[in-house]
Amino acid sequence: MTDLHTAIRQKLQAAQRILILSHVRPDGDAIGSMLALGLALQDAGKQVQMVLSDGLPATFKHLPGAEQIRAQAEGEFDLIITVDCSDAARAGPALPPNRRPDIVIDHHLTTEAFGELNLVDPAAAATASVLTRHLPAWGLTITAPIAANLLTGLVTDTLGFRTSNTTPEVLRQAADLLELGVDMSTLYFRSLVRRTFAAARYWGAGLSRLQRSDGIVYTSLTLADRQASGYSGRDDADLISVVSSIDESEIAIIFVEQDSERVKVSWRGLKPHLDVAQIAKQFGGGGHRAAAGAEVRGSLPEVQERVLRLTRRALNHE
Ligand code: AMP
Ligand code: MN
Ligand code: MN
Repeated sequence: MTDLHTAIRQKLQAAQRILILSHVRPDGDAIGSMLALGLALQDAGKQVQMVLSDGLPATFKHLPGAEQIRAQAEGEFDLIITVDCSDAARAGPALPPNRRPDIVIDHHLTTEAFGELNLVDPAAAATASVLTRHLPAWGLTITAPIAANLLTGLVTDTLGFRTSNTTPEVLRQAADLLELGVDMSTLYFRSLVRRTFAAARYWGAGLSRLQRSDGIVYTSLTLADRQASGYSGRDDADLISVVSSIDESEIAIIFVEQDSERVKVSWRGLKPHLDVAQIAKQFGGGGHRAAAGAEVRGSLPEVQERVLRLTRRALNHE
């Protein structure tokens, strides 16, 4: 084992009360990774709290252990771990101010080394893939409920094994997890296919304003759209996966109004040579070459104008 893995193993062994955090607007990899690591540490006799500042989205309520996830941490901890989180701000208010996480486990291209120990593998398709590879070396056992969570992280971050970083290793890991008795078809359907009626109506609002210019296909989702459709999240309900499937475009963007002063922006690069993480970084965000995001200050029209201008510029410079 390398020094890093020996150090992680020692920290995990020494800790009794462990807090696990992940990013705001959590996705399947954030939640699956948190639950997989949390359940494995509980099986090893640790007290574990799993906290998502935004709470658990209904899409992932079926995951083993999901009922344990809470929106706020309570009490003291001797170890804090973040999973699938590229910087401290992404962990949201659950990360105590002035406290570095003890262990950061992630796979983003733009991750800062903001923990004491940083296990970051940008080549990995999901944080769940990093965990699948390393949990056994840390003395933790992958049981069937843990496998269901890990597989959910793999399936969601690769969009059902479709992204270009779906390596033979990811498929082998999925096969190993399946052998532990996981029902992949049901997990796949629940996390990637099924959606609520409200989410579909919310999509409709966004799709009705879809635009395309200069190789950029984009739309917005507003607070009013959420109110009208009854969609309770503050994300794009994964509309980006529809918009990024549109032909004859180079970049897809969705602007999600958060309040009068903040807009969540998602970019997807639709051509292999593009690196949208670099564009997102200019707005204080980050992510991967093909998928990146940022939370940008300003009203929806202002942010839209600035982001489209800089994205056009980035396209011209390719
Ligand atoms: P999203 O557009 O939110 O689906 O995110 C696409 C990718 O960019 C994911 O890997 C996110 O973790 C990452 N990402 C999204 N927002 C941010 C942000 N504000 N800072 C850093 N990374 C982000
Ligand atoms: Mn994520
Ligand atoms: Mn991820």
